[in-house]
Amino acid sequence: MSVETAPSRAQLIRIETDRRLGHEWDEWDGKPLPGAGDFSAPPGLFFRFAAVTIAAVMAVAAAAIFLLAPRFADVWPGLPHALWLALAATAVISWLWFGMLVLSFYGRVRLLPEAWLERGPYLRLMSLTSYVARAFGKRDWVEHAAIDVYNALAERRQRTVGRGELLVLIPRCLSKEALDGVLAIAGRYEVPVFVATRGQLARRVIRERRPRAVVAVACERDMTTGLRDVAGKLPVLGLTMRLPNGPCRDAMLDLDLMERWVKGWVGS
Ligand code: SF4
Repeated sequence: MSVETAPSRAQLIRIETDRRLGHEWDEWDGKPLPGAGDFSAPPGLFFRFAAVTIAAVMAVAAAAIFLLAPRFADVWPGLPHALWLALAATAVISWLWFGMLVLSFYGRVRLLPEAWLERGPYLRLMSLTSYVARAFGKRDWVEHAAIDVYNALAERRQRTVGRGELLVLIPRCLSKEALDGVLAIAGRYEVPVFVATRGQLARRVIRERRPRAVVAVACERDMTTGLRDVAGKLPVLGLTMRLPNGPCRDAMLDLDLMERWVKGWVGS
């Protein structure tokens, strides 16, 4: 790990630099990405796929109870009935929670604490929904919409932290223009920037530096797994990128949005 400093720029700690495809893109066929690597999608796309995901999980559980009922009854005659009741209760709670999620997002009200919403069950739903979206070839768009919903909910908590308590985590694939922009923002607000080649290294940086909040930059695929692993333990805002030259190189990002988030967290 090396540390670079410059008088008017942010501190940059570079962990590793290479140009391998991230494992999330192993199956990329080398063709240009759809929409020039811009996977922007409306939040409604995520909510539709999430509803399908919850329904599918319930259907699979119901099918398992139905098929295995004779075996369960061998264990204890009342077990199939108890399992049906438990499934019905889970379904009611899940759909009520989902309704509150939709209302919290569109109604701009905080109906649940963060541990019960964007930093709790939402992260698991986001991951499961990503698997369902893959089956329909819509993975990147659904993940983008899911991350946007997560960010909107997280941003409304209006947290603030000290300058030394915020970390900016960026991937190795940023274009020079994007990297210069990130460093300029980090320099203005005096927050350290880390370049991590893999989610594993990003998690190691978080463990070692113990920040109180993180602004993370990554593609939708890496961000979905990163949020799932980290956002439950630490407040994170996740900025996705555009990939005009394919995955894992020359990525562009919305620098205005990044500045708004950093400023919102550490103050002006
Ligand atoms: S964040 Fe960049 S380097 Fe990492 S998998 Fe995504 S496109 Fe590749």
